[in-house]
Parts: sequence; structure tokens; C-alpha cells
Amino acid sequence: MATLADPALTFSRLPHPSPVPGATRALALQDPGFGKVFSDHMVSIEWDIDRGWHDATIGPRGPISMDPATAVLHYAQEIFEGLKAYRLADGGTALFRPHANAARFNASARRLAMPELPEETFVEAVRQIVAADRDWFPPIDGGSLYLRPFMFASEAFLGVRPAQQYRFLVIASPAGNYFKSGAPAVSIWVSEDYTRAAPGGTGAAKCGGNYAASLVPQAEAIARGHDQVVFLDAAERKWIEELGGMNLFFVFDDGSLLTPPLGGTILPGITRDSIIALAREEGLTVREERYAFEQWRADAASGRLIETFACGTAAVVTAVGTVAGKHGEFTIGSGGPGQLTQKLRNRLVSIQRGEAPDPQGWVMRLD
Ligand SMILES: *Cc1c(COP(=O)(O)O)cnc(C)c1O
Repeated sequence: MATLADPALTFSRLPHPSPVPGATRALALQDPGFGKVFSDHMVSIEWDIDRGWHDATIGPRGPISMDPATAVLHYAQEIFEGLKAYRLADGGTALFRPHANAARFNASARRLAMPELPEETFVEAVRQIVAADRDWFPPIDGGSLYLRPFMFASEAFLGVRPAQQYRFLVIASPAGNYFKSGAPAVSIWVSEDYTRAAPGGTGAAKCGGNYAASLVPQAEAIARGHDQVVFLDAAERKWIEELGGMNLFFVFDDGSLLTPPLGGTILPGITRDSIIALAREEGLTVREERYAFEQWRADAASGRLIETFACGTAAVVTAVGTVAGKHGEFTIGSGGPGQLTQKLRNRLVSIQRGEAPDPQGWVMRLD
């Protein structure tokens, strides 16, 4: 779909009549958890077929009213992103690879027949909210400001076609440590009855619909006492794909890594891409190859496979300790976080927080 790129798009600042009082905010920031506490502001930009992107604002966060016929409520034309702003040791703030999120947002937009947002506008929107809500960083170890840019079809129309009106919003949510440090490795459940993404489907797009479809298998995992679900490919139900919201890596006893290849059914994680780069920089071999579930079980049993970890923006890097399915359970390594998992996690986190050199130029300093 054509985009009217408007290089002159500037953000109007709408005054906030009643920001959250400092004492209330300080209390909320002590233990924000994930996705429960929200900041004072939001970014909003409108798109319609005649004017393209227009009416960019940074203003008070608040409810949005919509017509009951609004297309997103019926046909789920919606995409989103997730990235974090970090507070650096010297008090400044920074984003991690925001242009990668902007590019992926546009890839998702193309798959969902939505207009693309110029990358610079996406990054500027994110900068605007971090600047407006800079008092909302949790003052705790591992804390960050989680940013959620998203876009939905806002046209009131029940016909089935791409909408002619969209809204792009960014909200911010202070986040604690997703999994408290020192947390044991997670236990995952293999979904044999449900799949996440089929060839030709929307698996590579970050759209709400993929998450809606993953809730039943995720609930099944929880009901069976596990933390997360792992999906197999839809065609053969044989190859490991990813978790509901995180990519997977496997570590072998020769020090090499393997991660399932992107091919339309796996979400191209920015953490995944960063881990591949960091591991290669360490001189490690990283293969992007298919890996069968049965091979995983056999390699864990023989000791050839020594670690498995999941990665994504929210939790960064999380060790997988046990894997269970209808046909039994197996343990990875000692069942706790492995050495390479912890090393790669620490490398990535220290770059994100500005505590280690950043040769790739991933960190974008804001102030
Ligand atoms: C967002 C997401 C990821 C992780 O992507 P990051 O860019 O690393 O946060 C992995 N899988 C799915 C399904 C996702 O939606």
C-alpha cells in the first residue's frame, strides 16, 4: 500500500491536565512487574487514504473511543512492536536498535495490508514518549521503560478489505525484571495439538492475531504446570519453531549454537539477531538450521546438547531447564541456566545499559 511519506511531520504537544502525583508514581515504580503500570503520556498519529500520516501528537494517555463498527474489532487488522528504553549509568537514556523495530513494524504492516510509517517517524515517536515520561523509569536493578508502538484499522466499516483509516499509538509501561535474576530456568510444554504459524500465514508478522491464536496452547502449558509453550512447524509437526513470544537457541557440547531459520513462520526477533551477532563475534559457530523435536530429546539425553535458551525483548535471555510433552519429559543439562546462556545474556544486557563497548552501534542515546 502506498505511503505518503511526510518528512515534515512534527509532533504537537498536548498539555497534560493531571499527571500522576510523584508519590503515587514512586510507589508504583517500586515493583512494577510487567505490563501493569502505565506512564502519563502517549503518542498518536492518524492515517487516512487522502492525507496519509497526519495529526502527530504527544499528549495525555487516556481511553480511546471508537465506533462499534471499527474494523480492527471485527477483522483484527492490528500490528505492534515492543522495545525498551534503558537508563544508563550516567543518568541518560537510550534505546536499543529502534530502527530494527521500525523496519520490522513496516514488514508487519505490508503483510497485514496496512500503510507503512516512515522509519524516522517511528523512531521520533518513541523518542517523544521517552522524553515526556522520563520520570517513569523504575529505580530498580534491571528496570526499564517498555515501549509499545502499535497500529490498528480505525475506519468504521464492515466490508472485508484493507481499511482506509488507521491510528498509530505508542504507550509506555515501566517494567521490572521480567524474570527476577537468579530465577530457575523455565519449563516448557510442547504443543502437539496446536500450531502457531503455517507456511504462507502471518507467523513472521508481529500481529495481535498470532497471540490470540496462541492463548489456548499457552493456557494448556500453564495448566500442566509449565511456564511457556513451544510450537512445532504446522506442516510436519516435527521441527521446532519458537515459543509464543520468544525465539529459541540450542547450545552443543562443541560450543556451537543452532537456531531455527527464519522462513515466514518464525518471528524475526531483534534479540535473536543480536545474539547471533554476539556469538559470532565471540568466534562461535551459529547455524540457522531446522532442528527436529525428537533430535532435541535425543541430544539432551546423549549430552551432545548442553543448553537451550529463549530470547526476546521482554525477558532478554531465559534458560530452558525442562521440556515436556504428551510422551514424557526431559531435562536440559543440569536443569539450570547454562554457562553460555548466562554469558550471552550478560554481554547483551551490559551493551544495552551502556556498560560495555558497543562496536555494532546498537545503542541509540537519547539524552
Ligand atoms: C516479539 C516476538 C519475539 C521476540 O522478538 P524481539 O525483537 O527479540 O523482542 C519472538 N517471537 C514472537 C512470536 C514475537 O512476537
